[in-house]
Amino acid sequence: MTELSTPPAQDSWEKLEAEVAACQLCPLLSQSRTQHVFGTGNHKADLVIVGEAPGANEDLQGKPFVGRAGQLLSEMLRAIGLQRDDIFITNILKSRPPNNRDPKPEEIANCTPFLERQLSLLQPKLMVALGRIAAHYLLDTNETMGKLRGRQFTFRNTGTPLIVTYHPAYLLRSPSQKKESYKDLLLIKQALDRL
Ligand code: SF4
Repeated sequence: MTELSTPPAQDSWEKLEAEVAACQLCPLLSQSRTQHVFGTGNHKADLVIVGEAPGANEDLQGKPFVGRAGQLLSEMLRAIGLQRDDIFITNILKSRPPNNRDPKPEEIANCTPFLERQLSLLQPKLMVALGRIAAHYLLDTNETMGKLRGRQFTFRNTGTPLIVTYHPAYLLRSPSQKKESYKDLLLIKQALDRL
């Protein structure tokens, strides 16, 4: 689809979420999930954050980033003066992969049309990719996180700035990287200040 094109007149948040809720494109994930995790936040947000996939807590509650990683994300946002209600948060996949394994390429291919429609409805002014899976999809690259962090990209041909940072679940496993992630937060804050 055309990147961040104006959404088709017939598309709406309600229609989109109903389609996600009924989706069975990935046979395994649609059977094993407790419920879909569509995304939450402000539909008029300047900043849209895209993570990887729901985890166990998200799958139970139907909301993205509600476990320990979610608490850390909230802290990260507060560090740059943002509340969860200021932004919109979603994932590449809307159903939890079993045991939090990486999404498979075919699952990403199945699910990302929903993300593309969310982005069309949102028309964000700044995007943040949380972690490798989101960064690789949004930037169509296979570069390492080391090469993707610390700089500003443009999302495809839209002119929308895009910044890559660590997934908070990774920061929980590797707390020594929090210092690095704070540098990314400052980059995000500077990009927001420029809007
Ligand atoms: S991950 Fe996405 S495409 Fe796959 S079943 Fe869930 S909602 Fe459908």
